[in-house]
Amino acid sequence: MTHSANLGFPRIGADRELKRVLEAYWAGKIDQAGLAATGRELRATHWYRQQQAGLDIIPSGDFSFYDQMLDMIMTLGATPTRYRHAELASPLDTYFAMARGTGELPAMEMTKWFDTNYHYIVPELSPDLALDGEDRRLISQYAEAKALGIDTRPVIIGPVTFLRLAKVKAGDKVALDYLDDFLPVYAEILSALGVAGADWVQVDEPVLCLDLEPEWLSAVVRAYGYLAPTAPKLMLATYFGSAADKFSRLLPLPVAGLHVDLVRAPEQLDHLLPHWPDDKVLSLGLVDGRNVWRNDLSASLALAQNAATSVGRDRLQVAPSCSLLHVPVDLEGETALDVEVASWLAFAVQKLDELVVLAGALNEGREAFAPAFHDSDDAAAERRISPRVHNPAVASRIAAAGQLPARPARDVRAFKQQERLKLVSFPTTTIGSFPQTDAVRQARATFRKGALSAAQYDEFLKSETEKAIRFQEAAGLDVLVHGEFERNDMVEYFGELLDGFLFTKKAWVQSYGSRCVKPPIIFGDVARPEPMTVKWSSFAQSLTDKPVKGMLTGPVTILQWSFARDDQPRSVTCRQIACAIYDEVRDLEAAGIAIVQIDEPALREGLPLRRSDWQGYLEWAVDCFRFSASAASATTQIHTHMCYAEFEDILPSIAALDADVISIEASRSDMSLLHVFRDFHYANEIGLGVYDIHSPRCPTVSELREKIASATSVLEPGQIWVNPDCGLKTRRWEEVKPALENMVSAAKSLRIESIR
Ligand code: GLN
Ligand code: ZN
Repeated sequence: MTHSANLGFPRIGADRELKRVLEAYWAGKIDQAGLAATGRELRATHWYRQQQAGLDIIPSGDFSFYDQMLDMIMTLGATPTRYRHAELASPLDTYFAMARGTGELPAMEMTKWFDTNYHYIVPELSPDLALDGEDRRLISQYAEAKALGIDTRPVIIGPVTFLRLAKVKAGDKVALDYLDDFLPVYAEILSALGVAGADWVQVDEPVLCLDLEPEWLSAVVRAYGYLAPTAPKLMLATYFGSAADKFSRLLPLPVAGLHVDLVRAPEQLDHLLPHWPDDKVLSLGLVDGRNVWRNDLSASLALAQNAATSVGRDRLQVAPSCSLLHVPVDLEGETALDVEVASWLAFAVQKLDELVVLAGALNEGREAFAPAFHDSDDAAAERRISPRVHNPAVASRIAAAGQLPARPARDVRAFKQQERLKLVSFPTTTIGSFPQTDAVRQARATFRKGALSAAQYDEFLKSETEKAIRFQEAAGLDVLVHGEFERNDMVEYFGELLDGFLFTKKAWVQSYGSRCVKPPIIFGDVARPEPMTVKWSSFAQSLTDKPVKGMLTGPVTILQWSFARDDQPRSVTCRQIACAIYDEVRDLEAAGIAIVQIDEPALREGLPLRRSDWQGYLEWAVDCFRFSASAASATTQIHTHMCYAEFEDILPSIAALDADVISIEASRSDMSLLHVFRDFHYANEIGLGVYDIHSPRCPTVSELREKIASATSVLEPGQIWVNPDCGLKTRRWEEVKPALENMVSAAKSLRIESIR
């Protein structure tokens, strides 16, 4: 018998119950008992859901109040000393202190979980860690499920992944040296789970899908050689890519099973099947845990049957490619969705059904599940031929786009732009958005509910825009922005105006802690029926003689922050978006806008997990950006913005974007990115984010001056722009005003000096 298995269920709740209860707890509106009760309810709901779906193997330990890495830190006793010594009243206080900081202690660092949009707390390693396996959360969650009559398979993050993602904070040891300290604790936790009754434990080791140095690979062998003998049966879970390059080391491990991601890397099966050991279970990751599309059951069944022929049905499991944490909870909540497109989608709950059908069909034959296969085949066929997915006009547009000329050379552009813009040295500007005040958000909500007419809403936005323009003029900024008051979100705004995008009501996915995102779904060819931003940019420009930047989100970022189609390469979808942005740039230029900014804050996070795949990605990503920008003639200045300073490894690609001006984060990294430009000659202009918008602190004129001045040691003064490090939408006007005024003063004082 092949079993259906899940690797993890979203914990946020179909109605974001977890978010609400966390925020209530943090606001002091409910106590620990209240929080714990909701946690228990959510776990029970999710376990029952999976049981009702008919799933054979249901995970426990996949719940977390904030982040699974943070739970692992607690479970292992790897809490950094400063939090242990902080005299916090309860372990939960310590937990949230690490996650969010306290009055005295900053939060721990957080970063992106592989190539997802989920963020985890980065574990810290130092010699004073007091590792112990005293925290009982895994065991109590296992027991909690058992009390409900559900025998679960607990999930933990494996030692190699934990250490690989951790940061050494003190001492001379490198991360791997800590393996010997961690293994006994892991062994203790695993055997305690065994004693509690768990037959199997799922050990997540997604780092096995990364490039790993030989010493890390040896660590895998050492770790599982150590753990397996005293642990319950281990299902070693790899996901987010291929682990095929490591199979020769993984197959002989003394673990009882291996899970592979066959959505991202189906070719792994060809490597596995001929060598599959007699004593192991193979878990087939067939249902996409990273995207929202309905499974092509016939195709998946064919793969599974192929595996069954060589491995035998009894040693197979059918699973999602990875935890379902990264997809929305339930399609049922979407009552207003386009019916046709909805029939192509599957969220976490629907994916459970797919797993059960696949395992069932393998055991009892496809006929026993004929209606499910019939529906799935129909949906797949419809998607293949739907004119809403395949728009011939978009195809011919893309073909023609290949023939269009590139922009003139940079020195020609620089000359013509200066002739037109007559900018002072160290020109000042901002990144685009101004505070999204309660009034702005309320007006939008009232308008969406229909209680504010389109004309009234328009008037409101115009007056906000005008206020922003007047403020910028008064503050003495050189290049102005319209403020983005009409935008809720930099991707959603564009997606709503483009063909091929679908928006959901409740399809939330956890980003970190209580934060969720609701990514748009790109289901079909992307086209722009009409201009999207020209009205607001031209209105703002009509109010002032200073140049106002047109503000666009770039194609790579729109793609990256959406659920993308899986029926064509991402590069093709990106190209389609690039065509839409191209048209917008052209229309802005025609409307007299002299500067257009195309934001690409997600360019870097789109990098594939394996180095060998970087070049391919960077080529099409850069190409799509350049194509969007190529609508601008030489006299129109193209800006781009990125919120980070980790440029070193992709600097040639950043330069290849060939934006006339790029604005980047600099202040948080303490201008450390400057050293990058010492070795790499960057020819175009750079806006340095000298003011950290993430901090409520107002920067002083002298510190801003110092930051700008330090840049002149590596960059030509004529290359330098002065700006905050990101948009100002999350800040309040009271914070923004003095900070920008100081920024302008700092730039002005340097201007005077450099003339002298
Ligand atoms: N123009 C956008 C803004 O100012 C850029 C946001 C971002 O970089 N994430 O809000
Ligand atoms: Zn930014």
